Amino acid sequence: MQSVEKIIYLDHAATTPLCLEALEAMSPFYCECFGNADSPHKLGRKAMVAVDSARDKIAAVIGANPKEIYFTSGGTEADNWALVGGALAQKGKRVIISAIEHHAVLAAADKLRSMGVQVDVLPVNQGGRVELNVLKEWLDEDVGLVCVMTANNETGVLQPVCEIAALCKEKGCLFFTDAVQAMPYLDVNVKEWGVDMLSFSAHKFYGPKGIGALYIKSGVKIEKFVCGGEQERGMRGGTVNVPSVVGFATALEKTAKERKDREKHLQTIRAAFLEELAGVEGVYINGDEGLPAVLNLRFDGVDNDSLLYAMDLQGVAMAAGSACASASVKPSHVLTAMGLDETQAKNSVRISFGKDNSEEDVRYAARLLRAEVEKQRAL
Ligand code: PLP
Repeated sequence: MQSVEKIIYLDHAATTPLCLEALEAMSPFYCECFGNADSPHKLGRKAMVAVDSARDKIAAVIGANPKEIYFTSGGTEADNWALVGGALAQKGKRVIISAIEHHAVLAAADKLRSMGVQVDVLPVNQGGRVELNVLKEWLDEDVGLVCVMTANNETGVLQPVCEIAALCKEKGCLFFTDAVQAMPYLDVNVKEWGVDMLSFSAHKFYGPKGIGALYIKSGVKIEKFVCGGEQERGMRGGTVNVPSVVGFATALEKTAKERKDREKHLQTIRAAFLEELAGVEGVYINGDEGLPAVLNLRFDGVDNDSLLYAMDLQGVAMAAGSACASASVKPSHVLTAMGLDETQAKNSVRISFGKDNSEEDVRYAARLLRAEVEKQRAL
């Protein structure tokens, strides 16, 4: 019999495994109840009932009206849509994005620039938080859309989204926040937060990959992005991915129910991990405290590529930053925006914990990391 190698998975900001509850809820919608949710017959209607129920559950978790939830193929599409669709509806008025946004936003911003829209980049401080005073100076009637993520995917640093939403409301421009990383950990309430648009993605909280949603506040006008049929109330073409929508809602409800317990556990294992690294010279946490699941560490004099490779060989999965940028040799734009130089950015790794990591496993991983750092420094 082949032995299964044990992997200590510390890359939950990249993705999470599907929870069994979601898998079970999804399974009837592949072969039995496989209808197209927009078909007029019984099978179609059955599928639509499941989609509507999922939409209701998701809306309830984030304090939205179900009509304000639009399903997408994931966080990337939701981000692209909010940015491009939002800017176009604002008739090409100036757009402001933060310097630490995910590539799904950065690339959409480049698209907007190629269409002649002015996109300005809001700086962050050393702790990784956007400079609110700069935003206050920049906000005027020429700005149509502001985009600042809720929590950063590389550092976990939280952004002052409620304050930004209030500023944008005062100035009459749209505010979009990418809550893809924040959703698993924060008690999101779109009405209390005052945001106009918010994106999230199921695979970050033990739901299926390739499904996400964009919340669009009722009354907010944005242009269509994925063109096709009249699905999603005419706002997003494409056959609705019924099984994934069902898994999405199941995973989100479970996440919301278990959030407090998961947070406690994450805090415990994070502290245990750091305890095992105590006393190692030249180790720094990049960024202010934020999400308990994400830890961005810099080890002076240690290249992150070789460190990650060595850890992987020993069965520990960690990352250098965003998974979508892992093929890139460029240093992280998030860390350089925070003032780290290129070498410091290349000395940094992201560890992201999950609900199923045991304290014993993270302590073991931290001891391996400590030994590997010492070994590489001695070379
Ligand atoms: N936004 C943030 C902050 C992310 O971390 C990610 C994924 O890593 C995305 C957007 C893209 O989401 P998806 O993988 O669902 O396309």
